[in-house]
Parts: sequence; C-alpha cells; structure tokens
Amino acid sequence: MSLRKEEVSFCERTRNRTEPGEEIIHKITGFRLTESCPDTCARAGELHTAHGLVSTPVFMPVGTQATVKTVTPQELRDIGIQMILANAYHLYLRPGIEQIQRMGELHNFMGWDGAMLTDSGGYQIFSLARLREVNDEGATFLSHIDGSQHLITPESAITIQESIGADVIMVLDECPSFEDSFKKVEQAMHRTHRWADRCQQAQKRSDQELFAIIQGGTFPELRQQSATYLASMGFTGYAIGGVSLGEPKELTRTIVGETATLLPENKPRYLMGVGSPEDIVYAVDKGIDMFDSVLPTRVARNGALFTWQGRFNIRKSCYSKIEGPFDPTCNCYTCRNFSAAYLNHLFRCEELLAYRLATIHNLTFMNTLMNKIRDSIVNATFSSFKKDFLANYKGTDEKLRMSQKEKWLASQQFSKVDRG
Ligand SMILES: [Zn+2]
Repeated sequence: MSLRKEEVSFCERTRNRTEPGEEIIHKITGFRLTESCPDTCARAGELHTAHGLVSTPVFMPVGTQATVKTVTPQELRDIGIQMILANAYHLYLRPGIEQIQRMGELHNFMGWDGAMLTDSGGYQIFSLARLREVNDEGATFLSHIDGSQHLITPESAITIQESIGADVIMVLDECPSFEDSFKKVEQAMHRTHRWADRCQQAQKRSDQELFAIIQGGTFPELRQQSATYLASMGFTGYAIGGVSLGEPKELTRTIVGETATLLPENKPRYLMGVGSPEDIVYAVDKGIDMFDSVLPTRVARNGALFTWQGRFNIRKSCYSKIEGPFDPTCNCYTCRNFSAAYLNHLFRCEELLAYRLATIHNLTFMNTLMNKIRDSIVNATFSSFKKDFLANYKGTDEKLRMSQKEKWLASQQFSKVDRG
C-alpha cells in the first residue's frame, strides 16, 4: 500500500515518538482534508484510525458505559455509524481499567471494532462528580458510585486512556462554568494549557491520536489565546470544549465560528457535546469536522423522534391511529418494519423494545444527515443544503430545551451516567 504525503509525514512523526525496539502497532493514522466548501468554512475529510477510515464531518453516538444505550455494535454498524465515544471517567470507576485491559482493551471488551474516541474525564469531574479540590497537580473528586476519593492528573488521564485503547484520546482539561468570572475562566484556561503540555509529554502509545481542548468560556480574547497557544503545540487534532453548557445557542455559534478560524487547516476539529441536527449544520458551516452528543439517543428513549421537519413525540395519541411507518421517507429498520401505532403502543406500555427501535431511528437520522452534509460539501452545494434544511427543520424551542435540561440535571444528581 502506498502512503500519501501527509500520511508518510505523520508516520515518521509517530515513529520518532516510539522507543527503539518498541513495536509500532499501527502506522496509517492521521487526517486528510479532501474538500472545502467554496461559500462557507465547511469541509470534508478523512480521519485514518487504527480501526478504519472515518469520513468527516462525522457524528459519534455516545457509549458512556461501553455501550450505546439499547443497541448492539452490529446495529450501529448496520446503521452506518463509523465512530463512537466512550467516557474514561465512567470506565475508570466501573468496571475499572485493569478489567478492561484484561479483556483486551475496550474494543474487544464491548465488541466494537470501529473507530472510537475517549473523553479524558475532565468534563465529568468538573460537572458531574463531587469535586473536592483542583490544583496544578490534578483534580480530586468523589466517585458518584460509591463516594470513594480519586485523584486524576494529566499523566494518569493519559495512562487510563492508553489502557482503554481508543483511537482518539483527549487531554485533561479544566472546565469552568459558563457563568464564571473572566478571572476564573482565565485561570482554568492557563491550567488547561499546562495540563495539555503534560499530557503530550505523558503519551507513550503511537497508535492513538491525542487531541487538545480549547477552553476560554464565552470570552473571545481567551478563546483566541487558547486556540493560538494550543495550535502552536502541534497536537494531531483540536477540540472546542466548554460550550453547550447552558449558554444561549447564539453565543455558542459565535464562539465556535470565531475559534474554528484560529485552528490549523490540516487538523481535525471536534466540537464536544454538540448536538442537535440544527446545531451540527451550523457548526459544519463554521468548519467543524467531528461531533458527539447523547441527545439523539437520550431523546429517543423519551419517545422524541427526528424527522426532516423537526422532532416529534411518538407518545402522542395521534400516532395510535397511524398504520404506516412513523416516517415514510426513512429507511431505518424501525420505519421499514413497524407502524407508528405500534411504536406508540410500545412507549405507552413502557416496553423495552420501544427504546431500542426509537434509538435505531434517531441514529439512522443522524447518520443520514451527516451523509447528506458530506455529499453536499463534495458536490459544492452545502450552502443550499443548509438553507433548505434550516427552512424545513423546526428546532426545539430554546426555553423548552433549557427547562428540559434543568429537569434532567436535577433528576440525575450524583448518579449521572451521560454527558451533555
Ligand atoms: Zn426510521
């Protein structure tokens, strides 16, 4: 197999990072930009991982506890999912890193042979766990499972993720609240930079891509400082963290647009914890390549199903009379085989199959959306695709979205299992 120029240079770099005599497990990894939209910042590319090629822009379903809730890896494959996300924080606490290593790393343990990314745990420690202390050494927190105390440092975050064995791993970052003061956000950003440096130094495996995380809250000057500093450190990819934490959507879009323009052209850009179909379309327009969110799977379990006109709840009584599929234009397993009336019945009875069939539908919708986005970028029609999509798709009302999120957060106190 011949390697393209970019891939060769990436291989040489990874080779240099490997100690003499140490085995290089996978060589062909890296990112290649293939198309750029002439009218917007949208781009299409290829992320080459140790577990296959991922076409970007890509949406990653979230498998917090080493499972995308309710569906099997084969179902994910059948839908066309290329890459999933797992949470290092949760897996470190349960079943524990030794168990995952003993079972041949996470791909083997959970039976998923596609590409995978792990979150470092920064977000969970700062927003979900009971945080005890943060200092330059690391973050001390209490487990949400049994209250035991743990210290995660930048070095241990890398060791944990190297043991889990995902294809893309993340630096440990400090995530301030979007309501924090400039000074507090600035301090967290500087600490994130120091930790990013230590994570880079700590990385031993040459078959995993380490992504940096841009912080800086809602302050444009801090975002600029963070993006510029981390870009100069030569990471293999860049994530925008600390967004979609409750701030208004318009503000998120502005931050994303301004930050993306400061990131290297030839490296993948990942917007963490986003999102909804409309948010993804807006962010692709700004040049984002990778997304993850629990939203499509979580709302599916509440009966909220995506269509090209927006989200509708299958629990509503009007669906009990519909003999045809929920969405006649959808070719997912659920819509090909079951009526809307049957889905409505399953949800009303709280039958377990309801959650699985709804998840299959929503993940198929997300995958189709990403395919359409990629095709439109390749065909130089993304601008009109975006216009048509947003004209037809009715996004969730902002006030309703915030009240749903607050309710969910309140119900999950100290027993949180998902991010976002
Ligand atoms: Zn469907």
